[in-house]
Amino acid sequence: MILTLPLLAAVLNTASCDPVIVLENAVIHTVAEASPRVDRMAFDRCGEILATGDAVDELKDRQLKLVDLKGRTVVPGFIDAHGHLMGLGFQQLQPNLMGTGSKADIVSVLKAFETQLPEEAWLVGRGWDQNDWPEKAFPTRQDLDQAFPERPVWLERIDGHAGWANSAALAQADRDFSGSWQPEGGRIVRDEEGQPTGVLVDTAMQFVEGAIPSPSADETELALDRALTKAASVGLTGVHDAGTSLATWARYEKKHREGGLTLRVYAMADGDREMLARLCRSGHIQHDNWLWARSVKFYADGALGSRGAALLADYHDDPGNRGLLIQPPEALRAQVTGAAGCGLQVNIHAIGDRGNRVVLDAYARAAASHPDNPGRHRIEHVQVVALSDLERIAEQGLVASMQPTHATSDMYWAEDRVGPQRIRGAYAWATLEKLGVPLALGSDFPVEKPDPLLGFYASITRRDESGWPEGGWRAEEALNRQRALYGFTLGAAYAGFAERVIGSLEAGKRADLVVLSADIMEIPEEQILKTRVLATVVDGRVVFRHADAGELW
Ligand SMILES: [Zn+2]
Repeated sequence: MILTLPLLAAVLNTASCDPVIVLENAVIHTVAEASPRVDRMAFDRCGEILATGDAVDELKDRQLKLVDLKGRTVVPGFIDAHGHLMGLGFQQLQPNLMGTGSKADIVSVLKAFETQLPEEAWLVGRGWDQNDWPEKAFPTRQDLDQAFPERPVWLERIDGHAGWANSAALAQADRDFSGSWQPEGGRIVRDEEGQPTGVLVDTAMQFVEGAIPSPSADETELALDRALTKAASVGLTGVHDAGTSLATWARYEKKHREGGLTLRVYAMADGDREMLARLCRSGHIQHDNWLWARSVKFYADGALGSRGAALLADYHDDPGNRGLLIQPPEALRAQVTGAAGCGLQVNIHAIGDRGNRVVLDAYARAAASHPDNPGRHRIEHVQVVALSDLERIAEQGLVASMQPTHATSDMYWAEDRVGPQRIRGAYAWATLEKLGVPLALGSDFPVEKPDPLLGFYASITRRDESGWPEGGWRAEEALNRQRALYGFTLGAAYAGFAERVIGSLEAGKRADLVVLSADIMEIPEEQILKTRVLATVVDGRVVFRHADAGELW
């Protein structure tokens, strides 16, 4: 017999991809329609899934390595459809202010952190939220000046849509803040005398951020490594990076060339900048199944917490304020139409009902002028939508990229912001799902914790980590477990054009999976948060193993 070239390749490949790993005695939720639950699966050393369930028997001629999972649970690797990978990495290197309960708390965290800083360095942190403090008002530079009279301090709000500077940091900004001027798409918060208080919202943040020395190549490298380690430890096997600069893309490419990626990265270009220009010139970039780019992220408006989300009517708790569009609707339309003309997917951050409407209008226009674009355009966050616009999202074939933990972080004050009517179209996961809108779930890390199990729990309970409120916040919008798991796996894969390769455990797909200590599809809700990620596997390779996991393969 003469071996044809493809057949020869197949034979050689088969041999070099042995042994085949067979996971046995497991509770495997495949997220595949045909056989959603099986007790075994097999993948080869090259990282391809060969069989699930009874089909594993057909592999007996191969060299097998049997792994008894002792009844543990396996799900497809989690994919976060909206995260900020470098942000997660730098968060690991900066003081983390998430969960601090007062300004005094923050100062003491900063003081402790300062001991490791060189004398002239900026002190940069992230994660404060005035809604967690007794007084619930924006802080001021004076709150920091006594503890830090000389060292510039810049603290990003938890949502990344406002920053808090001390006087030393304001002094280094190359802007004269005097007068009453305000930037387009942002706000310099001023006191009664018109002096800047130190809080800068949305586009105003750049005045201080521009003065911060950029991190060194070594620091950036370290941040990426920390982010990858963190992601693997929580069960993430993929992320959609929501705003990748050309420089960051080059860093990801280098990491991939070195074989150092442990997470599949789908990059969204960071707005109308060099990365978008590169994608428009070269078309899609695909580095096998590890790193790819064919989309761009734009912004419609700000965030609800800092009242920067653009609303159609006044904020319920701030009459006269309707928030901010980052740019005029015509400008957003031009951006969207331009990117759609390059054949790209467009992903737009929209929080308020006006922000979401402007996005729907922009997509309608782009669809008319570029009917050949492959679509799957996304709205990122989709937080507050006018009831009359919910159906438009379905009709226009858009993907809703939503973050369940945003709802459980915002539920304490969201209704104060928008009132009892508009809240009905807010965080409306189940309503969108029923309308047939594809959901892609994520966390928006480092805005929220990256743990997908926390997102899964929030999706099905609409409760916070302490279990509040009983019965869930507007529980009618909760997802069932199947849909929640789908959103963090195959739904996210679809939103990144990767549903044929990852997102479910099926023969022919890549072996991205997570071994869990308990069956999250069955256990009582409150036990989900106690469930441990025992192992994270990407492309058949163990990239994280918990001490309790024991020997794997
Ligand atoms: Zn984001």
